[in-house]
Amino acid sequence: MNILLQVAGVAVMIVIFLFYFVERKSAVRSNQMFLWQAISIFASLILDILSIIMINKPDIFNIHLTKLVCKLYLVTVILVVCLGLVYCLGDIENINFKFFSRMCMTTFIMLMIGIVLVMSTPINVVYDKDGLNDYTEGLPIIITYTEAFLVMAITIAIIVKYRKYIYKKRFIGVFIFISLWVVGSAIQGIVNYMFSNLGVTILSVSLSEALGSLVIYIMLENPSLNEDKITGALNQRAFIDYVSLCMKKKLDMEFILINYDTDMSNVLLNYDDFSKSITKMLQTFNVEKVFKNDRNDFIVVRKKEGTRDLSIVANEFKDNFYKNNDVFININYKLLHFNDLSLFESSNDFIAVMKYLNVNLTSMDRGIYEITDEIVNDVHKKFLMKKKCDKALANGNVEVFYQPIYSNDADRFVSAEALVRLRDDDMNLIFPSDFIVEMEHDGKIIDLGEKIFESVCLFICEHDMEALGLHYIEVNLSTIQCMQEGFADNFIRIAKRYGINPKYINFEITETGEQGKANLLRNMQILREYGFSFSLDDFGTGNANLNYIVEMPVEIVKFDKSMVDSYFKNGIASYVMNSAISMIKGLKYKVVFEGIETEEQINVARAIKVDYIQGYYYSKPISKESFVSFLEANNK
Ligand code: C2E
Ligand code: MG
Ligand code: MG
Repeated sequence: MNILLQVAGVAVMIVIFLFYFVERKSAVRSNQMFLWQAISIFASLILDILSIIMINKPDIFNIHLTKLVCKLYLVTVILVVCLGLVYCLGDIENINFKFFSRMCMTTFIMLMIGIVLVMSTPINVVYDKDGLNDYTEGLPIIITYTEAFLVMAITIAIIVKYRKYIYKKRFIGVFIFISLWVVGSAIQGIVNYMFSNLGVTILSVSLSEALGSLVIYIMLENPSLNEDKITGALNQRAFIDYVSLCMKKKLDMEFILINYDTDMSNVLLNYDDFSKSITKMLQTFNVEKVFKNDRNDFIVVRKKEGTRDLSIVANEFKDNFYKNNDVFININYKLLHFNDLSLFESSNDFIAVMKYLNVNLTSMDRGIYEITDEIVNDVHKKFLMKKKCDKALANGNVEVFYQPIYSNDADRFVSAEALVRLRDDDMNLIFPSDFIVEMEHDGKIIDLGEKIFESVCLFICEHDMEALGLHYIEVNLSTIQCMQEGFADNFIRIAKRYGINPKYINFEITETGEQGKANLLRNMQILREYGFSFSLDDFGTGNANLNYIVEMPVEIVKFDKSMVDSYFKNGIASYVMNSAISMIKGLKYKVVFEGIETEEQINVARAIKVDYIQGYYYSKPISKESFVSFLEANNK
């Protein structure tokens, strides 16, 4: 037997260890499982070599000692595959802790059974005549390979079942590792079985383990993978690892997210240099770790004890920044201070909350934000609500309610606003304030908007609009929808499918920024040419003002509830609004007052000849069945 392949394996392992320890500075944590597995592979290789030497020198080594070494080698083979399984389980720990601990226990028991069986059953050393092909045989070998295959089958089953949660590279890395192992043992089995009588033998299992370990190292465990290449700070991947570590070990750390925005346009410094200098500066702040998060933020981790007050850090950040950069940049920054990791369910939860707050606190003043348990609870509630809404949407639990709109001229209800609602599992209603903005952010509003429109088309299809006294139904459009290319054609296609006369539909829009306005106007034009009409919603809220009316081709202007309320409360507001109303009427637009709740308000609204009135005074938004009954009762 020759030991060439094993020696090559040893060389591979030495290279891995060398790199691992040289690059350790950028490791967030050493992945204990990888390290243990690498050490067992190394031990396995050494024992493999040792056993071959001992078998070949029966005159020097006691046969019992030789058999013991052979068995120890087999034990390390089982150990290597068991550690491989535990290594893969790491990713599942946060997802399903019960399953994780149960599997760790099972693996431990399998390992123990394997060791006991291997150590207690007899192994034989077979010497052949020329001494070239001495080998071992017996139950321990069969047990070892059976168990190894079993454990690897379990590993594959688990990573396939949980592939959604397993880090993708780990999935691939482990597959390569196992494939190498299977190929290695197959070659060993086949060659030794078929060609041993020709004097050809090969022991390739240990080498394949070493190569597998090398693949895992390069793909996953190389500490420099944790580095942000530009700034030299630790990267997001490292952050995820580090947070898990802090949570698992209950390390008492505080996390500070530093988000800065700055106008780089008048600065000579390029962005990469700028980030680099910020990293350097933060590293001098007596901190534990510095992570580069998204483009404009860093996360600094400090031990809680004995660190300087956050406001001092904030000032230092600013002062140092100017000192180091020698240029004047007006840097705005905000610090989110997370002092208590126990508020979070898991590392994933912490990262999600941090991300959410980072995005959603931008509208507030710059400065330092203590992230209290109330804030975290609020975000958790939002997450829960989002889950509920996503589920309702996925299950198609979308309903359209109708709020009647009264016409002063006709003295009856001539239209209604279609308002969307979702229903959760307990059949409770979820209101738009809980989901519209979120769905605008993640784009789901486009699908939802289509469903709402279809629902309104169906309503018009199923009812005799004239008989009910209805002129049209108002359908809210989100600016996100209107900015979509091809949006108008799509809605026209839907209307045609239901055979809807476009005069029965009036779309409500609000103001958009300049961005996307061209598309909005194009879509509006196509829809108007087809015969739909438009209202400007939320007039007076900052979402729509006089300026906007002039350039928007609308027929109706809807005064928002807040504006209507101040009309009744405040003399100056009513003066301003009276002139606005006469101007709008002068442009031949109709005016709607929204949010009319009292008799007093109704009387005034009628007196000043507001064209349409909508509000709880007449009716809240109601289901389509109730709406039809409402009309039948009130539009006689
Ligand atoms: P909006 O378009 O301005 O709709 C009017 C809102 O005011 C509705 O709230 C309505 O229930 C409420 N309202 C009407 N009269 C009164 C009143 O007398 N008192 C009070 N306190 N409130 C009144 P809702 O249904 O919760 O909708 C809120 C907002 O969500 C809507 O404001 C609209 O911007 C958006 N939204 C609703 N449905 C849709 C939809 O189908 N698509 C889109 N894109 N947005 C929608
Ligand atoms: Mg509206
Ligand atoms: Mg409105």
